[in-house]
Amino acid sequence: KEKGKDNYQVYVREQEKQSVALHSFSLETSLRRAIHNEELTVHYQPQYNAVKGELIGVEALARWNHPEWGNIPPSQFIPLAEESGLITLLDQWVLRRACEQAKSWFDQGFAPMRVSINLSMLQFRQPNLLHFISRVLWETSLPPKYLNLELTESTVMDNPETAMHILNQLRSMGIRISLDDFGVGYSSLNYIKKLPIDTIKIDQSFVRDILEDIDDQAIVQTIITLSHALHLNVIAEGVENEGQLEYLRMHKCEEIQGFLYSKPLPEEEVVKLFCRMA
Ligand code: C2E
Ligand code: MG
Ligand code: MG
Ligand code: MG
Repeated sequence: KEKGKDNYQVYVREQEKQSVALHSFSLETSLRRAIHNEELTVHYQPQYNAVKGELIGVEALARWNHPEWGNIPPSQFIPLAEESGLITLLDQWVLRRACEQAKSWFDQGFAPMRVSINLSMLQFRQPNLLHFISRVLWETSLPPKYLNLELTESTVMDNPETAMHILNQLRSMGIRISLDDFGVGYSSLNYIKKLPIDTIKIDQSFVRDILEDIDDQAIVQTIITLSHALHLNVIAEGVENEGQLEYLRMHKCEEIQGFLYSKPLPEEEVVKLFCRMA
């Protein structure tokens, strides 16, 4: 009986392997189709001022609802989109959609706030990046000061001199820049000092155990001190409970994003949130 059960499990595992392979094969085709077919949506996670608790912006996060497979998490389709190069299409689509959305909220009379977009390394390296972004801003009539681009350390440090050049141009257009997932990659302090950025985003892996782990406490305090010394804004992501919020507030982290305040929300829910605040 036991043996029969084992055999059954092996059989199931083989099947799973095949279906995973099949999935990632057709996933790419599907993703390509999804970008054109409205299967993708953008959810928005609110960002708050840590002291006053005011809503200061939202981060746009891509969501994929596949007709058969249901919701596929970004942890699965973003790496795939990066490998296949589809990420540039996806990022462009999200940028346009989020800018249109932000402008429409402002037009409906809600207080203007910044909208943050994640840019992949591949997208950041596109030769037509500046041209594309200015066109989207022009077409959607979104004032550039409300657009914030989130880039990871590795995107920027991959070629810091070129990055600096592009970032300077983006900043001169009035766009704001955040360094996302700060602390998990490697950053040269020499470049951090010179980089034209506005905000450092403390990675959620340092926030998770901040109440118990003294190493995480040291890292978070150092990032906050560094940010302030360089006159940069600092935001913590992945804040899930009051204890973490209190800790970050006490150590002068200005901004907070996390499930404690809100999960990423679909457009309709964001409007409801705006209405409740108004
Ligand atoms: P990210 O840019 O660091 O975004 C924050 C992620 O943390 C989001 O995951 C968000 O849902 C999650 N999060 C927020 N608050 C909490 C919290 O309190 N606890 C926990 N456990 N998680 C929290 P999501 O939406 O699954 O996205 C994962 C990553 O996928 C993003 O990390 C970003 O790197 C990438 N991504 C998402 N959308 C896009 C996009 O449009 N373009 C690009 N290039 N990357 C994207
Ligand atoms: Mg981000
Ligand atoms: Mg992040
Ligand atoms: Mg992250």
